[in-house]
Amino acid sequence: MATIPEKLQQVRTRIELACASAQRPANSVELLCVSKTHGPEDIREAFRAGQRHFGENYVQEALEKMESLADLRDELCWHFIGPLQTNKTRVVAENFDWVHSVDRLKTAQRLSEQRPSDMPPLQICLQVNIDSEPSKQGVSVVDVVALAHAVSQLPRLKLRGLMSIPAPARDNAAQRRPHCTLRELMESLDMPSLDTLSMGMSDDLEAAIQEGSTLLRVGTAIFGTRNRPDKSTHSAH
Ligand SMILES: *Cc1c(COP(=O)(O)O)cnc(C)c1O
Repeated sequence: MATIPEKLQQVRTRIELACASAQRPANSVELLCVSKTHGPEDIREAFRAGQRHFGENYVQEALEKMESLADLRDELCWHFIGPLQTNKTRVVAENFDWVHSVDRLKTAQRLSEQRPSDMPPLQICLQVNIDSEPSKQGVSVVDVVALAHAVSQLPRLKLRGLMSIPAPARDNAAQRRPHCTLRELMESLDMPSLDTLSMGMSDDLEAAIQEGSTLLRVGTAIFGTRNRPDKSTHSAH
C-alpha cells in the first residue's frame, strides 16, 4: 500500500505530465486535497509533504479537524466544497477561506453578512449544474450570468470563478466535454477578475487540465478509499 506522501507524489507527477502535454506551466494548476472522511493525522501527513489547500464537505467534521490542527491554522487554506445549508452559512463564513458550492443568491448574501470584518473576503466559486441533471446541486447554466453579477456585488465576498462536478465518464473525450462547457461559460461571463476553474477530480484530472482547470479537487488518489460512503458526489465509479 502506497503511503500518503507517495500517492501525493503520483498525483503531482500526473499533474506535471498533463500540464506539459497541454503546454501549460505546471504552476498554473493548484492541487486541493479533499480530506472528507479522513482524519486530521492524514491531513498533517499531506501538510508535511508540502500541501496547503484542503477541501471538506461536512461542516461539523471539518470543525473537529480544524480544532486538532489549530497549530497549523496560519498555514492551511480551508475550502468548503460540500452542499451548503442555510443554517450552516455562519460557521462556514467564520472558519473557511473558500466556498466552492454557492448556487443561490440567498446563500451568498448570508455568507457576505456573516463573514467577520477582521477576516479577508471569503473566496467564492459558483457551483454549476453542468450536466443539467434535475436532482443535482448547482445553479443552472442559464442562471449563472445573473448569479455571478449579483454575487460580485456582495461586499464581504470575492467571486473567483466556477466549479462543477460532472457525471463520471469513461474516456477522455467524454470527460473533457463538461469541463469545456464550464470554461466556455466562464469566458462568456466576460468578468476579467475571475481566475478560477475548480474542476477535475481523481479520475479526470488530466481532462480537466486539458480544458483549463486551475484548481483540482482530488481525494481518493491521495488519501485512498473513503472511510465511509459519501453522498455528495456520484457513486458510480
Ligand atoms: C469528494 C469530492 C471530490 C474528490 O473526489 P475524488 O474522486 O475522491 O478525487 C471532489 N470534489 C467534491 C465536491 C467532492 O465532494
